[in-house]
Amino acid sequence: MLFDSHTHSSFSPDADKGTDIEKMAQQAASSGLDYITITDHCDCNYWLPESECDYKEYPKEDSIMFGARDYALLSIEKALTLKSKYMNLLCGIELGQPLQNPQAAERILSCEGLDFVIGSLHMNAHKPDFYYMQYDIMDISEINALLSDYFTELLEMCKQGGFDSLGHLTYPLRYIEGEFGITPDMSAFDDIIRDIFRTLIENGKAIELNTSGFRQRYGRPFPDEHYLKLYRLLGGELITIGSDAHRLTDIGAGLKEGCELLKECGYRYITLFKGRKPENYKL
Ligand SMILES: [Zn+2]
Ligand SMILES: [Zn+2]
Repeated sequence: MLFDSHTHSSFSPDADKGTDIEKMAQQAASSGLDYITITDHCDCNYWLPESECDYKEYPKEDSIMFGARDYALLSIEKALTLKSKYMNLLCGIELGQPLQNPQAAERILSCEGLDFVIGSLHMNAHKPDFYYMQYDIMDISEINALLSDYFTELLEMCKQGGFDSLGHLTYPLRYIEGEFGITPDMSAFDDIIRDIFRTLIENGKAIELNTSGFRQRYGRPFPDEHYLKLYRLLGGELITIGSDAHRLTDIGAGLKEGCELLKECGYRYITLFKGRKPENYKL
């Protein structure tokens, strides 16, 4: 069994325009995947369209992300409609920054028929997405402060729950290390990451192995081997896997490599969520 539990259609503002859900289901089948879960973005802090809010603190580049409400609801509606036609299709959402607009998170979580919810953090409160930041003009203490705020909010997200799997734990490193070549001393965050893992394990939640890093400059998945081993050591078993594809050709990318890495790290199963319930499949 192989499945891609993290994919974006054109209902995500940063995905390729031709990435239609029907084509994604067909692409998944022709690449030999047993299931594909559509997890379009719902960045809760960008819930309203730009015309209906006064989020003036956000940088202009981020304005493409406004209107998460409309995109997310359309994505869910379309995926649910197509589920009866494509048996390999599951309907999920990538819930970004749920604590930065809890009412928005609640609205999405109340949608009937959801199979899977990824909890993600793409930006600290009142800061731009990590994608937009210029790390080369920061000193290392500023970068460490950003990471510290990031993991603190992530821990709080895990305590409050609401999602099924914690998305790309080391997301900021995609840019800090992958794009800017800056390697922060991550050992400073080992304790809080342990707390994050323990909280997820206690609450029966999963972490995600996000394989997008394999095809990006970072070159490793999010999170990498070090954290995969730590989670396993602490008793973590539930792990979802996803390519984070934003175009058809990336569907399923890196999944086999990811499964091999999981086996090396002592995992026996990968987890698929259906109807918000985990199902484990032997690796
Ligand atoms: Zn994400
Ligand atoms: Zn994503």
